[in-house]
Amino acid sequence: MLTLDAHPTGRHFLQIPGPSPVPDRILRAMSLPTIDHRGPEFGVLGRKVLADMQKIFKTRHPVMIYPGSGTGAWEAALVNVTSPGDHVLMYETGHFAFLWHQLATRLGLKAEVVSLPGTEHGVPASWRRGVQADLIEQRLKADTAHHIKAVCVVHNETSTGVTSDIAAVRRAIDAAKHPALLLVDTISGLAGADYRHDEWGVDVTISGSQKGLMLPPGIGFNALSPKAIDVSRQATMPRAYWGWHEMIEMNKTGYWPSTPNTNLLYGLSEACDMLLGQGLDVVFARHQRWAAGVRAAVRAWGLPIQCADDTVHSPILTGVMTPEGVDADAVRKLIYERFDCSLGTGLGKIKGRMFRIGHLGDSNDLTLVATVAGCEMGLKLAGVKLAGSGVQAIMDHFAAHPGGLHMPAPAAARATPQPAMA
Ligand SMILES: *Cc1c(COP(=O)(O)O)cnc(C)c1O
Repeated sequence: MLTLDAHPTGRHFLQIPGPSPVPDRILRAMSLPTIDHRGPEFGVLGRKVLADMQKIFKTRHPVMIYPGSGTGAWEAALVNVTSPGDHVLMYETGHFAFLWHQLATRLGLKAEVVSLPGTEHGVPASWRRGVQADLIEQRLKADTAHHIKAVCVVHNETSTGVTSDIAAVRRAIDAAKHPALLLVDTISGLAGADYRHDEWGVDVTISGSQKGLMLPPGIGFNALSPKAIDVSRQATMPRAYWGWHEMIEMNKTGYWPSTPNTNLLYGLSEACDMLLGQGLDVVFARHQRWAAGVRAAVRAWGLPIQCADDTVHSPILTGVMTPEGVDADAVRKLIYERFDCSLGTGLGKIKGRMFRIGHLGDSNDLTLVATVAGCEMGLKLAGVKLAGSGVQAIMDHFAAHPGGLHMPAPAAARATPQPAMA
């Protein structure tokens, strides 16, 4: 039992790639009294968060907000657009893609997996690189009878620290002249990595509250396309709670068919004010800069980064591979016990071979320098021979690349003409 006396002093370093630390400003917003979810104030809140989330997903089409986890939102996406026994194509980027595949199989779908063959450093090659859109294109071209109803890919693979080019997957589907829907999981990517639902031609985007949105767990999202809504009218998979249509109708006035997560929605409203107030381009640039700093540290240690393709490193998290024979989970445990810092475990096929450093949401340069310091101390205590100091490398990186209020505005913001002084 954790007694109050045993509670560590100072802040816990929650450096896992979700749930991420919740800013005090959001915690305070959530502490407002719970209101009547059928009353007039609620409708105002409901309409606001629905409109804000369209801006976050970059869509003009409906966004579903469910009390539920990301896993629930995966299920919602599949049961709304498929019929029993339908064939879907899923790309294996890592453990979350694998879990989504398992869920599809349990729903009775014929879920086919595409992946890159082979291994690298003793781990699947497909778990070190992003989606290879040409493999999807080849498979769809071979499906001349159009049995495949949906292509499912993970945008930011949280188990590995690899992002995928979603626009390239859309181009692959179009090049194959295939009518399959494109379903994308950006549960950990949204509000940390660039994402454009409409522009990239995504039919259903799946997300959750506890990662880039900086909220506690408890909300699952589906962003829809008009084509997905049309397909869902004909699709016959049994669905009740997750059904889109009743929700779309009631959301028009800012209400839900069943009780929505009232207090989490106060938090969501606050999170959207923070993210949209700063501008998503500023948020994305900040995450890229943090990620580059953490990678500089891992390179200085001389350890391999799980993502083997320099063009697709995740801005949200970095996977650090431990040398052969060093149990990454033992290193994590040591860092947790000695320095009160949580790191992500290696999942599934890469368990024990790597750990994950989350650098998302409510972070800053100094929390990340301290996180790297915790990792460096832990690795040394575990007997890992490091080539150099990652702490020095991340400090040098942040010193050389000004951030925070001193960060140059992204190109889009700079291009905005300034109003003339009166
Ligand atoms: C966290 C995560 C999930 C699972 O979401 P839950 O809220 O834990 O159900 C699925 N996919 C990705 C990419 C994730 O990061």
